[in-house]
Amino acid sequence: MARYKKPKQIERYWFETYGCQMNIAESEALEMQLRGIGLTEAETCEEADIAIINTCSVRKSAENRVWGRIGNYSRIKSEHPMILVVMGCMAERLKDTLIKDAPQIDYVFGTNDKLKIVDVALGSHKKIESEETYNFLKNYYKEGDVSTFVPIMNGCNNFCTYCIVPYVRGREVSRNLQEVIEEIKFLDSKGVKEITLLGQNVNSYKYTDEAGNEIRFPQLLEKVAQNAGNIEWVRFESPHPKDFSDELIEVIKNEKKVAKHIHLPIQSGNDRILKLMNRRYDSASLKVLIDKIRAADSNITFSTDVMVGFPGESEDEYEDTQIMMNYLRCTEAFMYYWNPREGTPATKMDGQISHEVKLRRLQAIIERQHEIFAVEKTILAKGVHKVLVTKVSRDDKEQYLGRGEHNERVAFSHNDNISIDDIAEVEYLGINGNTVVGRAIK
Ligand code: SF4
Repeated sequence: MARYKKPKQIERYWFETYGCQMNIAESEALEMQLRGIGLTEAETCEEADIAIINTCSVRKSAENRVWGRIGNYSRIKSEHPMILVVMGCMAERLKDTLIKDAPQIDYVFGTNDKLKIVDVALGSHKKIESEETYNFLKNYYKEGDVSTFVPIMNGCNNFCTYCIVPYVRGREVSRNLQEVIEEIKFLDSKGVKEITLLGQNVNSYKYTDEAGNEIRFPQLLEKVAQNAGNIEWVRFESPHPKDFSDELIEVIKNEKKVAKHIHLPIQSGNDRILKLMNRRYDSASLKVLIDKIRAADSNITFSTDVMVGFPGESEDEYEDTQIMMNYLRCTEAFMYYWNPREGTPATKMDGQISHEVKLRRLQAIIERQHEIFAVEKTILAKGVHKVLVTKVSRDDKEQYLGRGEHNERVAFSHNDNISIDDIAEVEYLGINGNTVVGRAIK
């Protein structure tokens, strides 16, 4: 016996999206599909006929937030007829628990089943079977965006011991090359200025076309860059160091449209910890890779992800990570400490580090690395650069804010010929804190 009523008609939707850029891209693409069948966005979740929560499982805290939201929907649904859908990684990981413990949820769709939402919105009452494989959507563009993500692969075969992604996103699936190129051309026609090719392990892209030709990531990147038209920058995220081939470095070097800023998640600089993490590279091969990339183009800058406090990490092993970070010399980094993640092997490893020690190590690495970011940005802050104008500064209306090719945040003086979403030419004059400052040339 249902306590909750279903709406007579489904006219307004509401999305709540948690987690990574892939989730954001998928939600935006699904929104387009819902608009395509005549739905409009509700002003609040309370007014929606169908609410979709796109979930994340990477951290426990992300799941806890979703549990809180699901709890809220119990009240909303008892006051207003509505369909509640929970999709994404948490739906994949905890499907049975969600169905059992949260009767306010009408549908739980894992990562392969997101398109079923359109069936539900159409009022289809047919039995909804699970899909065996991941399907890419035709288009991920959100009207008006000048910077957008283009998913090209999904899933991961690597099983890093701290990561839940392979369990919730499944094995690697690569998108049809032709569909990617068509989307790039479409984005160009829409005036998009910057695209980021997206995948959990983006540079392991591997697609076999109808003629039997195998296309790897370097070839895909080259083709995307050559079809980018007026798109200024082609970026990609996140590559795995073990799959970073010489061929890829050549494409980055030769293709002007490929932004000369690389996100290279190193995670640790210590060989024993890297092995425990199952990262399948060591500190020596990382250094060789960094050297090769720098030798290809000395203008290339880096960002990274780095984790401290992995189970068993000694002070010396932690220091190796500091040393590797000093070698990499990033302009920015996502630095975090390891947190147990239910369902991953590292959670059961010996030598769990206390919260105090993890926090101390994290604070120390952040402090040290911020000094390096400032040095690297000072080196960058010379000459004339293209900047994507993102907004007017809140503190000073005479200043625009934007981002450059190296993903650097830029504040620069106002110029009447420049509008938000333009690519401006800006002379860099120095840095102020974490921001490059400059003046618009045109
Ligand atoms: S490569 Fe990335 S997505 Fe895959 S298991 Fe490792 S950290 Fe997770």
